[in-house]
Amino acid sequence: MKTILVTGGAGYIGSHTVHELVNQGYNIIVFDSLEKGHKNFLPDGVKFFQGDVGNIEDLNKVFSSNKIDAVIHFAGYIEAGESMVNPLKYFHNNSAKGITLIKAMNDNGVKNIMFSSTAAVYGNPKRVPITEDHETNPVNHYGASKLMLEKTLETSKVQGISSIFLRYFNAAGAGYGIGEKHNPETHLIPIILEVASGKRDHIKLFGTDYPTPDGTCVRDYIHVLDLASAHVQALKQLEKGKSGIYNVGTGKGYSVKEIINICRNVTGKNIKVVDEKRREGDPPVLVASSLKAQKELNWQPKYDINDIIKSAWEWHKKENIIN
Ligand code: UDP
Repeated sequence: MKTILVTGGAGYIGSHTVHELVNQGYNIIVFDSLEKGHKNFLPDGVKFFQGDVGNIEDLNKVFSSNKIDAVIHFAGYIEAGESMVNPLKYFHNNSAKGITLIKAMNDNGVKNIMFSSTAAVYGNPKRVPITEDHETNPVNHYGASKLMLEKTLETSKVQGISSIFLRYFNAAGAGYGIGEKHNPETHLIPIILEVASGKRDHIKLFGTDYPTPDGTCVRDYIHVLDLASAHVQALKQLEKGKSGIYNVGTGKGYSVKEIINICRNVTGKNIKVVDEKRREGDPPVLVASSLKAQKELNWQPKYDINDIIKSAWEWHKKENIIN
């Protein structure tokens, strides 16, 4: 049985992937600081180590006492908006601490890593849907901090490190009885659902003057369960020592206004919207071509935007005990 160390495995995408990997028969060790993660998101019986990926002693402890075949590195900060006002927080956590992790892996003879990267590395795309060979030119420091770790991993090939980067588009939805719960919440779909459930009065619509059909930003929303299955498929490649970069999205884009309307239909609630100025660091359109992942990883997204929002709403209702 292969043993996989999953950093940030108690987070939103990490925990869904851990469930999927356990179902596929992998032995999982979750390494999470619990600063953002939730231990109760994990399947029963999964080995858990509370630690910081920036702490070499924590890492050496885990690497030296387990035979680890590969690392999946989820741990990171994820808010594009916050990265524009606190860039050092992002470069320290996402880049510098990530480099500590790679060094600890290498020192302990672990050579395979899958890294949670992001569509934000592309910046304002020149061509849509975006393919993996599109130039990288992030317009927010979140994307830049992730790109820095990609570059470090690419360079580490000379030291025998194989790496797969999954560039996620917008993860959303819920599965395995777990869902999106960030503190503070900054992501579009959970915020809209908080308005639908009466937890918030309104959603602030960040920018209505973008060069898009309805003036609001367009994103490619991918079900977190589809993201989880992409990791399982990519792991099979990584186990063969293969490296690669893969977009993980659906190829379909929805504007913020469209998402609000779909949420109105799914929840049957009126959702109050207040127009605001643009949020700094938001590219107008991010839509993936995931043909490479479909072909090389034998992966296919199964869920559409209605499935995503329905699953998120079901989870949200349970979590907030609303009818
Ligand atoms: N957005 C918004 N109001 C909010 C949260 C997000 O208008 O309260 C917009 C945001 O500006 C972006 C889109 O929704 O255009 C998706 O944002 P999110 O933070 O969910 O994901 P990102 O694309 O930044 O990773």
